[in-house]
Amino acid sequence: MTSKTNITIREIADALANDEFVFYYQPKVSMHTGEICGAEALIRWQRPNGEMISPAEFIPLAESTGFINEITLAMFQKLIVDLNIIIDINESLIVSFNASAKDFHNNKLSTTIQHAVEHHLLAAKHLEVELTETVILDQVEEVRDNLSLLHDLGIALAMDDYGTGFSSIDTLSKWPFSTIKLDQGMVSKLGTSEKDFTIIHSSIQMAHQLELEIVAEGIETEVVYRILQNMGCVIAQGYWISRPVSLVDFIEFCRRNKCWPSQSNGVIHMAILDHIQWRKSLIDGVYYISLRRNIQGLRGTPEINPTLCKFGKWYHGLGRRCAGEKWYDEIETPHNRLHEIGEELLVAAQRNAPQNEIALLMRQLTEQSILVIGMLQSVENELMTKSKA
Ligand code: C2E
Ligand code: CA
Ligand code: CA
Repeated sequence: MTSKTNITIREIADALANDEFVFYYQPKVSMHTGEICGAEALIRWQRPNGEMISPAEFIPLAESTGFINEITLAMFQKLIVDLNIIIDINESLIVSFNASAKDFHNNKLSTTIQHAVEHHLLAAKHLEVELTETVILDQVEEVRDNLSLLHDLGIALAMDDYGTGFSSIDTLSKWPFSTIKLDQGMVSKLGTSEKDFTIIHSSIQMAHQLELEIVAEGIETEVVYRILQNMGCVIAQGYWISRPVSLVDFIEFCRRNKCWPSQSNGVIHMAILDHIQWRKSLIDGVYYISLRRNIQGLRGTPEINPTLCKFGKWYHGLGRRCAGEKWYDEIETPHNRLHEIGEELLVAAQRNAPQNEIALLMRQLTEQSILVIGMLQSVENELMTKSKA
């Protein structure tokens, strides 16, 4: 891509009128399955002489002048066309689209998207909108209404460049994000900066606890890919997988059905942490009942159904790929038993059972929890050894 200095807003407007903006697509890969799961649409200015201009050269000027609204609306129409071609090739793909702060200061973009979804020009499940936190910091009420509209339509919202803002956690808790996208600057320094390593590791764990999807962008090497996979990151994007490519090349890319390393190690690690957390919230629950507080109203009450806890959902969903492996088949019964003891304990607490009965159940819970976590740790070791072999 070339760098053109002194671009004027007039040239940008002419380029839009002459249909010189196109989308390039950068593939995203599921680290669980190793398969392509989507792409990010990234704008390019393709001049008639073949020169290609990067968004960094014109998006900031378009944003500061407000012309970005025109570009976004025009590009959304192109996205609809491209997206339908893409899902004809692979029905499971999700394409993300970048929006700017100003795109949510009025309802034009959100109502255009709503119209497209309601008229079946695209299915909400195939679209994700990426926003940086600055979108939210100004004109809060308008932005909130427009984002809520998208959320209610079933469109995923990703917080872009996560880790660079000042109030990311606060924003996450107040806005309807379904995905966080780790900033590529932090990701690229993962192998060399201890601070970035720690921020990324804890961000992945937090996303998991909040049941948010987590994407890492800027993955340039296999080492970074594998570190993130081990940490439990779910979706990968970066030059190591592919640079952004034209629609034609992206379709070719999808058709090749290439696979990247898939591994359950990150999921197993998360399951260990989840079950430590699960046992703690269960014991807290028993304590709160003994204080005569209503458990239904407490946040963090553990999931009793073993198919619905975070590990259970994975086990009966994506994890089925491991069916037939010894550890997979062996862990179901002890895991179910752990949940049964948990339920017995809550029921005993609710009927105000004698202390010795509660103490016995607590001991059984701890023993069963140690057994399940021990099994998970053995699997983690085994997978780690296999991936090094
Ligand atoms: P972004 O949304 O953070 O997009 C990711 C940028 O990182 C893209 O640059 C992508 O090509 C680049 N990238 C991806 N993987 C790697 C990697 O492994 N290493 C390195 N060094 N870079 C990687 P691009 O396409 O130049 O876009 C730059 C920015 O321009 C985007 O940052 C986004 O903020 C903006 N942009 C792009 N397309 C659009 C659009 O359609 N609308 C709006 N409003 N902004 C856009
Ligand atoms: Ca983006
Ligand atoms: Ca980004």
